Amino acid sequence: MHVAIVGNGVTGVTAATRIRQKQPTWKISLISGESTHHYSRPALMYIFMGHMMYRHTKPFEDAFWEEQRLELIRDWVTGIDTPGKRLMLYKRQSLAYDRLLIATGSKPNRIGCVAEHLAGVQGLYGLPDLQTLYENVKHTRRAVITGGGLIGIELAEMLHGRGIEVTLLIKESSYWNRILPPEESAMVSRIIEEQGIRLIGNTRLREILDNGSGRVGGVLTDAGERIDCDFVGTTIGVSPNIDLLRNTSIETGRGVLVDDSFRTSVTDVFAAGDCAEIVNRNGRPNLIQQVWYTGKLQGEVAGSVIAGEERTYAPGIWYNSAKFFDLEYQVYGQVNLGLPGEKNLYWEHPGGRASVRIVYTDEGVIGFNFMGARGRHRICERWIVEQRPLSYVLEHLDQAEFDPEFAQRVAPAVRRMAKEQAA
Ligand SMILES: Cc1cc2nc3c(=O)[nH]c(=O)nc-3n(C[C@H](O)[C@H](O)[C@H](O)COP(=O)(O)OP(=O)(O)OC[C@H]3O[C@@H](n4cnc5c(N)ncnc54)[C@H](O)[C@@H]3O)c2cc1C
Repeated sequence: MHVAIVGNGVTGVTAATRIRQKQPTWKISLISGESTHHYSRPALMYIFMGHMMYRHTKPFEDAFWEEQRLELIRDWVTGIDTPGKRLMLYKRQSLAYDRLLIATGSKPNRIGCVAEHLAGVQGLYGLPDLQTLYENVKHTRRAVITGGGLIGIELAEMLHGRGIEVTLLIKESSYWNRILPPEESAMVSRIIEEQGIRLIGNTRLREILDNGSGRVGGVLTDAGERIDCDFVGTTIGVSPNIDLLRNTSIETGRGVLVDDSFRTSVTDVFAAGDCAEIVNRNGRPNLIQQVWYTGKLQGEVAGSVIAGEERTYAPGIWYNSAKFFDLEYQVYGQVNLGLPGEKNLYWEHPGGRASVRIVYTDEGVIGFNFMGARGRHRICERWIVEQRPLSYVLEHLDQAEFDPEFAQRVAPAVRRMAKEQAA
């Protein structure tokens, strides 16, 4: 049995190790055009900022792959012949498979400007983008970044760290307020501005201007402002990378359509991770998850199913984390969704650099947001699963904080505030 996996990101690699665990004799090939070895994509910014070396972003020693008999193929897959069970490759001959996992991740959304091809205009997704960025910053004094999600703020920090003047254009009124509740969004917006980054809300990029020699010279916003710059960062989100499937019979929607065992519409072809769209049969919207830990979870289930186990994927309690400059952020469960009966208890440190939000209903707690403080994943998740009432959570809040010293100060302050609000 030969399993071919397209994509050596967290999803593909997790699936490969899982299959190896279950099937010691099967042949497993991991194919990726980006890099021979798996690396941590979220660490891209730290390489650029000099906090990590590339080799430190590889979670496995190079010898691991041979030890595990996982064949690494550095190449781009250009097509899939599903009836013939073959992959077409760019550099070498085709590759036959018995079972196939598509784990091709995401691709950055295009901004749709005519001048998007100009030198100095780029997104940030993978190692080739990092190489382009090293080259681009040599010519950059002023940068405009369009798109205010997690990658936009990372790119802003990376450029700002090199002394480049940065303007961040966001279509929302304050940073990432589709996801962050108003107070947390205001906190991050403040921090961005305190860094000396110009944050322009309610504004989209309308046009990129040529400096006359094929390089970006500025932008025009939809508010009619012209901003001179030598660099434009395009970070307006990502979409499932399904380009490879264009001329195949594998069904796609926004992503590769799969059932909750990651089977596609074609026998022996599976898809998981950022590129997959899990079809929901209960009348709810289909599910596309594009974060690191869901890639790992999906890879585990897909790998088990490919290896012959019957397993289904349960999305579980939502978790995400990020860093906005030096401000840590974590979310557990359901926050800022405006669910019926939802109530919020929000405490913010007087210094405006830390906060705790507890979201609950009459049935119990449903979500947490931590800013500038690190919550304990297992505890927050357990309280949500167990639907602990707010009173219980408040009483035990110091257990949910990662930093015991901080917890000793925060938990009493949050309890005091809850008491005052109830009075
Ligand atoms: C800059 C950045 C920062 C991020 N930070 C965070 C974070 O802090 N926390 C978090 O949870 N998530 C973060 N993410 C998202 C996270 O990295 C992704 O959700 C995760 O990497 C998805 O894993 P994957 O294995 O599904 O896909 P990917 O990691 O995208 O891997 C897919 C691989 O497939 C390869 N491939 C695609 N098409 C082909 C082809 N035709 N032939 C050969 N190879 C192909 C690609 O080159 C790529 O190497 C970040 C993403 C980016 C871009």
